Amino acid sequence: MTTTIGHFIGGESVLTGGRTQPIYNPSTGEVCGAVELASVATVEQAIANAKAAYPEWRNTPPAKRAQVMFRFKMLLEERADQICELISREHGKVLHDARGELQRGIENVEYACGIPELLKGEHSRNAGPAIDSWSEFQPLGVVAGITPFNFPAMVPLWMWPSAVMCGNTFVLKPSERDPSSVLMIAQLAMEAGLPAGVLNVVNGDKEAVDTLLHSDTVQAVSFVGSTPIAHYIYTEAAKSGKRCQALGGAKNHSIVMPDADLDNAVNALMGAAYGSCGERCMAISVAVAVGDEVADKLVAALKGKIAGLKVGSGLDNSNEMGPLVTAQARDRVVGYIDAGVEQGAELVVDGRGIKVPGHENGYFVGATLFDRVTPDMSIYTDEIFGPVLVVVRVNSMQEGIELINAHEYGNGTCIFTRDGEAARYFSDQILVGMVGINVPLPVPVSYHSFGGWKRSLFGDLSAYGPDSVRFYTRRKTITQRWPSSGVREGVTYSFPS
Ligand code: NAD
Repeated sequence: MTTTIGHFIGGESVLTGGRTQPIYNPSTGEVCGAVELASVATVEQAIANAKAAYPEWRNTPPAKRAQVMFRFKMLLEERADQICELISREHGKVLHDARGELQRGIENVEYACGIPELLKGEHSRNAGPAIDSWSEFQPLGVVAGITPFNFPAMVPLWMWPSAVMCGNTFVLKPSERDPSSVLMIAQLAMEAGLPAGVLNVVNGDKEAVDTLLHSDTVQAVSFVGSTPIAHYIYTEAAKSGKRCQALGGAKNHSIVMPDADLDNAVNALMGAAYGSCGERCMAISVAVAVGDEVADKLVAALKGKIAGLKVGSGLDNSNEMGPLVTAQARDRVVGYIDAGVEQGAELVVDGRGIKVPGHENGYFVGATLFDRVTPDMSIYTDEIFGPVLVVVRVNSMQEGIELINAHEYGNGTCIFTRDGEAARYFSDQILVGMVGINVPLPVPVSYHSFGGWKRSLFGDLSAYGPDSVRFYTRRKTITQRWPSSGVREGVTYSFPS
């Protein structure tokens, strides 16, 4: 008997008996549940609930909203074990990795608790004779979020806590591949005191997404997922004049300089390339070695470390790397490894055909390492989203910078060096949104904002942090005069100055 995951609308769990699709445990390959895919009518019901909840929530004092958010943060901490188990069971990532994801999400909630400070607006006294002028940041109304499978708890928490703290109401469409943790989190928000209808969750596929995109009620859309879909969301939202931020895919490079602390660089690359089985938008998937001497040492050291990597079920916390999310994802990654071999790259470690005892049907691919990869190969050009690290050899840092800048993605990057001047030049010249200096996964903390460049982000504003307050509010500027009694002014036809 498997349970069917439905939706969360108007503060209630909703099952409509509509279309469903199975949810798999990627560590075992077994079906562990089913998820209902919302119809147009179900999504419209969620939008209607969000619309109905908006007037009262908009007028709820920000400090009262913050009290709800604060209780919500405490509930997330109390129920962390249960949430992480749900993440691991459906996504496959190891429990300690799920814990890291949830912690980052909680930090976004903590940031949201302080948003009243950022809603205060701006004021100018005597902007003109007896004229005062001020700007307010007002909510947009009903806003929507569409999120990917790879951070089922964290990415939704990038969005809706900020949005609702700004006074909006929200419809979330999470990934249909691992929906359970999101629904549990929505229930916790209710338990914390979030009024019914302020946060609604609809599970579903393209039908649900298109209903959100084409709704006249939805004012803005936040999206995180792959680049082709991000581009589609951005262009569709623009057609109806919706505000949109659409974060896409990545191919994150890391330059290893000849003066780098190689042991540190190797440890950092292992975690950044193979943590979460490479299914992170900030995963390092290209190591750019400056000079053959560095490349030879780097490849030898990585090869040694990979031999000791513990691969297995995500629910066993002693493992270091779990499976890929679905059988299709596994087959896709294997297809890229095949292509890399065919296209002439040197396969140093082959993760195909890995056997995990007791989990023979799990979607595992072992850590894979390619050397002597060139920019024309598909293992270099494409986002593989799996445990595949490719080494590209260059002769200088400048050549490495030009390589990175020519790539279509610009999410994250990192340089390993002991040279401050080189690091400073690199961070200035590189066309990438998030840069690490000896930091392999430079994911900004919650009070900065997260966003890539080029085809990694469509839109002007990044996710969470200060940008999210600007994204989820619109400025209204009010200019006011209270003339002294008895003062009468004549007609003026010139522009006021
Ligand atoms: P995806 O693009 O397949 O799905 C993302 C969301 O879009 C899901 O909710 C899905 O249901 C929906 N969707 C899928 N196909 C659609 C279609 N044809 N029309 C409308 N909606 C559709 O992405 P994914 O596989 O869930 O996640 C992995 C991708 O997300 C990777 O490319 C990764 O780099 C990216 N990602 C980016 C960031 C970032 O911050 N830039 C963060 C996490 C993940």
